[in-house]
Amino acid sequence: MEIVSDKNTLISLLNKNRSSVRGLIPTMGNLHKGHLDLVYKSTLDCAYTVVTIFVNPLQFGPNEDFHKYPRTIEEDIATLKESNVDLLFAPSVNEMYGEDKEEQVIVAVTRLSEILCGKNRPGHFDGVTTVVAKLLNLISPTYAYFGQKDWQQLALVKTMVDQLDMQTKIVGIKTTREKDGLAISSRNQYLTKEERSIAPLLKAELDNISIRLRNGETDYEVVETESKSNLSRVGFDVDYIAIRDSHRLCTPDEETKSLRILAAAYLGRTRLIDNIGF
Ligand code: AMP
Repeated sequence: MEIVSDKNTLISLLNKNRSSVRGLIPTMGNLHKGHLDLVYKSTLDCAYTVVTIFVNPLQFGPNEDFHKYPRTIEEDIATLKESNVDLLFAPSVNEMYGEDKEEQVIVAVTRLSEILCGKNRPGHFDGVTTVVAKLLNLISPTYAYFGQKDWQQLALVKTMVDQLDMQTKIVGIKTTREKDGLAISSRNQYLTKEERSIAPLLKAELDNISIRLRNGETDYEVVETESKSNLSRVGFDVDYIAIRDSHRLCTPDEETKSLRILAAAYLGRTRLIDNIGF
């Protein structure tokens, strides 16, 4: 596996492999089984797999965990070497964005970036789409793999690629979960023992909503409100529970073909997100 931290070396290495079907998995590192499921899919589909590790300051708010986000590059390198990855690109912040620039180009997907998680995390998704656009431009992958765990992020990236006529095909991969249902996330390690025992109830509540919808309930607002209080009762501070159109993420309307049930909630200082299809 080649390990590269500067853009010029990255480009010249990729130019040598121009004709291969190329897969990209962008990550912030601290790799776990969820990331590795994306990597595995790429190694099945593509002759050449690139993983990026970059904790992107642009997508963290001023009071978020940018400085304390877990950085485990040595362990990550060892894991990727065993996973048939061809190239790891792990740039510094300076390499990615340059010295303080007078002008800052931001790639923003309007509306989709402002709802759900975007409401409580202003600027977060603009940071995501900006860095993903840069990585797609630098790496020109045939396929780029994103987790369904971050459903809104996946929807934003698909919209960006579609509207900016980018040539990469965006592939969404099913959420990898712990045995008790908790979606695997680097942030789970922030949970105390007690919080960790409560955390799986988030997915359980999404399943509960799914059962209620299957049983014919159609007043989504009532279902959302009751679920919110179920979660508050067991210790969550709920940001949102939302039953939405799975593609546009708006409230379901006559054009809606499938639903997505999405949630974000704090346990102590840790923000958990999850979603399931319906
Ligand atoms: P992150 O390092 O958190 O930015 O995640 C990098 C990629 O891995 C994103 O596309 C995530 O959606 C995906 N990912 C993270 N956790 C999971 C999981 N539990 N299941 C599937 N994909 C995941």
